[in-house]
Order: sequence, then C-alpha cells, then structure tokens
Amino acid sequence: MIQQLCIIGVGLIGGSLARALKAAGAVSQVIGCGRDPVQLQQALELGVIDRAELDPVVAVQAADVVVLAVPVGAMGGVLRIIAPHLAADTILTDVGSTKASVVEAVQRVFGYLPPRFVPAHPIAGTERSGVAASFAELYQKRRVILTPLAETEVDAVDVVREMWQAAGAEVVEMEVQHHDEVLAATSHLPHMLAFTLVDTLARMEEHTEIFRFAAGGFRDFTRIASSDPRMWHDICLANREALLKVLDCYVTDLAIVREAIASGDSAKLMQIFTHAKKARDEFKQ
Ligand code: NAP
Repeated sequence: MIQQLCIIGVGLIGGSLARALKAAGAVSQVIGCGRDPVQLQQALELGVIDRAELDPVVAVQAADVVVLAVPVGAMGGVLRIIAPHLAADTILTDVGSTKASVVEAVQRVFGYLPPRFVPAHPIAGTERSGVAASFAELYQKRRVILTPLAETEVDAVDVVREMWQAAGAEVVEMEVQHHDEVLAATSHLPHMLAFTLVDTLARMEEHTEIFRFAAGGFRDFTRIASSDPRMWHDICLANREALLKVLDCYVTDLAIVREAIASGDSAKLMQIFTHAKKARDEFKQ
C-alpha cells in the first residue's frame, strides 16, 4: 500500500496508473500535478486523483512515490524543479518510452544517480491522450519493464515492482540499452512507418478518395498514426541511435522489395512474404 503517490503528468499513462491502483486499493492518496488546471480539474472530477497541484514542488512534498508521466522531452525540466525538494527516502520513478534519455536527464540534474530512482516503462497504451482517455484496466496482463541501475536500491525496485503488479501488470527487468534497442524495433519503428505512410498518402492529390476506400488493413496498420505528435517527436529524438539502426535495416529491406516488384522477381517476393507470414503467425499476443 502506497500512502502518498504523486503523479506528475496525469494523462493516459499516469491517469490509468492512478485509476488501477485505486481500483486495487493499493494507494491511500493520489496527488496529481500538471500545467493545465482544466485537465487537473477533470482528473479530480473523474476521481482519478484526490488532490490537484499546479506546483510540482508542493506536489512532491511528503510523497512516498513520485511518478514522472510527462513526455520524455519534458522529463529534464520537471526533474530540475523537483530535485531539490525530494525527501531522501522518496522513490522516484518514470513511465518514459525511452530509458537512456531519462537516466541521462536524472544524472544531469542530480549530478549522480539517486539510489531511489527506478526507471520504468509500461508496455501498454493507446493512440489517445489525456486523462479522459485513461482507464483502470490499461495495464491488465501487460508488461512493465524496469531498468534498475547499479546504484538503485533493491527495496525501491521492490516497491515499484509491487506498484505495477497491483495495477495488473507483469513486471520484467532489463538493461537500459537493451530496452531502448528492443523498443526501437517493436514500437518506435512501427510508429515511424505509420506516421510516414499516412503523411505520404495524405499529401497525394487523390487522398480523399484513398481514405474513403481504405479497408481494414489500412485501418489496422495506421491506427497508431493518430498518436500524439509531440510525444513521438520526443521519443524518436530521445532514442535516435537505436531507431536509426533499425530504420536503416528497414529501408534496405524495403528497397529489396521494391527491386523485386520492379523486376518481377516472384521467387524473391514469395520468399519475403512467406518468411514474414510464418514469423507473424508464430507470434501470439
Ligand atoms: P498524455 O496523455 O499526453 O499525458 C502527458 C501528461 O504530461 C499530460 O497530463 C500533460 O499535462 C503533461 N505534460 C505534457 N507536456 C508537459 C511538459 N512539457 N511539462 C510538464 N508536463 C507536461 O501522454 P501519455 O500517453 O500519458 O504519455 C506520458 C508518458 O508515458 C510519456 O513519457 C510516454 O513516452 C510514456 N508512454 C506512453 C505510452 C502510450 O502509448 N501513450 C505508452 C508507454 C509509455 P499538462 O498539459 O496539464 O501539463
């Protein structure tokens, strides 16, 4: 049971965590902090938070756990404000989609890696944003990756693990760099493809006709292009190195498909499509 939980950034991810912990009876009081009083008032009215604070310094006072749930590009700014005001035993964690960038921001602001800082990333979400989109079941049977550091105290990791388990998630641990490489391939690259595809098609003269006749495949593939542009801007720049590596592989392979189509190389096309189908069929989720 967490007595006082402070969530900075009460949007889809932070709001859903608060809802899940309240539903599980795993938290006594949730303090929500953000810049927009309208969003915070909505969070209060929805029962997502118990207290709203516009000032992060006040919000973190007496908190047992502080969760940073703002876009990854905004983590450094928030950290600079709260760092001098965190009690020595307060556990600091985050939900950022990239981990090296958040760890670097913490190191930059504190000048060292605090033993009660536990980097984390829930592998759950939707293309929607804001507290109104949050829901208590978001983390049910979903994975949360913790990337504790050599400096991280074991009992702080335990608290964060139990918090996510109470929210319904399965918790795994990974090294920071491995997390960023895996997520570049499984999440960040697909978002780049979806955004680019929809942008390309939307700039074509006949785009109204294209979208009018778009069927299920287009809808499945491009749903994530409705995600928040600012959030994804931050993610792709924060995980630039790992993303570029996997993006380059994809561009090379796409050029091979293009060449096979241009030259009518049906054996090559069948080989690629069959291999992809087998791999996709084996992956169950
Ligand atoms: P969201 O719904 O837009 O919520 C973000 C919250 O952060 C908002 O409540 C916003 O409130 C606050 N915020 C935005 N910009 C800020 C800034 N510059 N400074 C301080 N606060 C700011 O986004 P989300 O989907 O919950 O994402 C939050 C974090 O979770 C991100 O780090 C993202 O990488 C990570 N994540 C997202 C997903 C996903 O699928 N969406 C999945 C896993 C992890 P105010 O405007 O009131 O300040």
